[in-house]
Amino acid sequence: MSAIVDRWVRRLKGKLAPIGEMTHWQRLAAALDLQRTDLVPVAPELDYWQITHAGYSHQEIYHDVDKTTDACLKTWAELRPDAIWMYVDISHQIEHFIPPEQRPKHFIHRGPQDYLLFKPIAETLDDAIALYEQRTFEKYLEGSRPVTHYTPHMLQLLEFQEKMDRQVPIIIGIATPTNYAETIVEVQRFLRWMVTEPEERIRHYLNLCLEERLAALDFYAEFAVRNGAVFCCAFGGARTWGPQHLEKFGDVDRIFVEKAARIFPYLFWHICGHNLPQALELVSGWPGIKGIQYDMPYYSQKLSWPEWFGRVAQLLAGKQCALNAPTTQLACHGTPEQIRGMVSEFIDATTPHTTACVMPGCEIDSFTPLENVRAIISAARTPRPQS
Ligand SMILES: [Zn+2]
Repeated sequence: MSAIVDRWVRRLKGKLAPIGEMTHWQRLAAALDLQRTDLVPVAPELDYWQITHAGYSHQEIYHDVDKTTDACLKTWAELRPDAIWMYVDISHQIEHFIPPEQRPKHFIHRGPQDYLLFKPIAETLDDAIALYEQRTFEKYLEGSRPVTHYTPHMLQLLEFQEKMDRQVPIIIGIATPTNYAETIVEVQRFLRWMVTEPEERIRHYLNLCLEERLAALDFYAEFAVRNGAVFCCAFGGARTWGPQHLEKFGDVDRIFVEKAARIFPYLFWHICGHNLPQALELVSGWPGIKGIQYDMPYYSQKLSWPEWFGRVAQLLAGKQCALNAPTTQLACHGTPEQIRGMVSEFIDATTPHTTACVMPGCEIDSFTPLENVRAIISAARTPRPQS
């Protein structure tokens, strides 16, 4: 039981004005089930942003779970998006792979609003394989931030979700095996190895990443799902892979997704950066994925935004909900008017084919102005005829 959660529940329960006819939970669930909704759901990924919005610096919340949770709940109470994103940073993902004394040189806070910077933890493929074969992540788990920060923060938010009678869902973000394979060593390096290293070594490394991720899903089943978690975002990797690599190695993420979908009823895929149409095609064919949070078209695709939105919506038709708009760049640097325009374009181009959820392709920049975040939310809630 958490005092900070109880304080927010006392303040909010039974006192919130309804938005539309559905609850936030019902709205997001219906869109992911490809069903009609009263309003288009809107759930921008606010994880870092909500910390600064709530008046905290990133250094200040780094070791403070209550302040982290407080920031998420304060932001939700004020803006009422259709989901709450957990705060997640890179240390949550990899700190347990690093011996405690070496952690300070791997994670750097540049400024109060900046992203946590990190240095990769393996430089050669052999080192990366050794990290897994020696089960480093088990050896250093105790006292690492996945245990001391990420898990208690997740449990607090789930406690809020349940005590508020599931009005608003918490989105649990989990990185896929490919995302880990790239993050541990740095994406560019991994891409180079796909050319320079023998295929069996790459395959061996990816299989080790897969094995660890499948075991991690058992943790989520026990600690997240048992405490009410239902919605999950799979942070995929392979954003910059070519079609042949996707075909050759993409199956590790597919195997991960099959298990994740058995655990989380509402699972969607996050693929940010320049999206290769083949990557979207591949993922849209995986059963269990209810939505795709996609990003901008690949460099070589000369498409207008409405064309790109329409093309992805056609690809997902009958299978998945499309989650997008505006771009994170526009959200940060554009005007509220431009943001509203792009959200409308996305909805208009998407809903003839599949359901839409307004959710920029990646995390909202910590420096994004409040009026722009408000514009994203209000644009989604402007009533419009639905097909
Ligand atoms: Zn992203």
